[in-house]
Amino acid sequence: MAFDFAEKEKGIQPRTIWCLGRNYAKHAEELGNAVEARPLVFQKGLNALVPLSGSQTLFRNHGEVHYETEIIALIDRNDRGAFIAGIGLGLDLTLRDLQNELKAAGKPWTLAKSFDGAAIVSRFISMNEIPSLRQIRFTMTLNQEVRQRGDSSQMILPLEKIPAYLEAYTDLQPGDLIFTGTPEGVGVLNPGDEVNLDMAGHQMGSIRFK
Ligand code: ZN
Repeated sequence: MAFDFAEKEKGIQPRTIWCLGRNYAKHAEELGNAVEARPLVFQKGLNALVPLSGSQTLFRNHGEVHYETEIIALIDRNDRGAFIAGIGLGLDLTLRDLQNELKAAGKPWTLAKSFDGAAIVSRFISMNEIPSLRQIRFTMTLNQEVRQRGDSSQMILPLEKIPAYLEAYTDLQPGDLIFTGTPEGVGVLNPGDEVNLDMAGHQMGSIRFK
């Protein structure tokens, strides 16, 4: 399925999908990872990008698919540099069994993170509707039950510092998306599950897995 930004972002095409890992201490701990001062960085391909709407066939036959609910920054750029133009919410889907196997072997996780449909992205809220990047609360409900609650105030690398962190290695461009890491409470998805995402008092959308 083609991915389209909402009307107000028309003209911006999705470009690179950057992802931070271990940016919330309690999530790093729940997976048995060390809590470090700086988050790790990986990418998903554009092949992985799908909108948070309608239904999607759950990726099968490769072990458990985990949800990770994350704030997503939409990047734009002007002559002063890159900046966060909008804030969305999404799911970083992860083949957890495969990731654990690859991690144990010291191999890259690409296939565990960048299979088709692994980057689920909501609409974006423009910055003038977000009172502060330092306190954006969000909730993920699975079949009407709250499974993840997060707050950007809990990030190890604060949201407003993330663009500069990546810009040490790349000039971020309009349409770049940054998944900013997940709080604790990740878990397994099954066919028939419905996920609803809320952020800062906004209903961000829902998706059902077939
Ligand atoms: Zn993640």
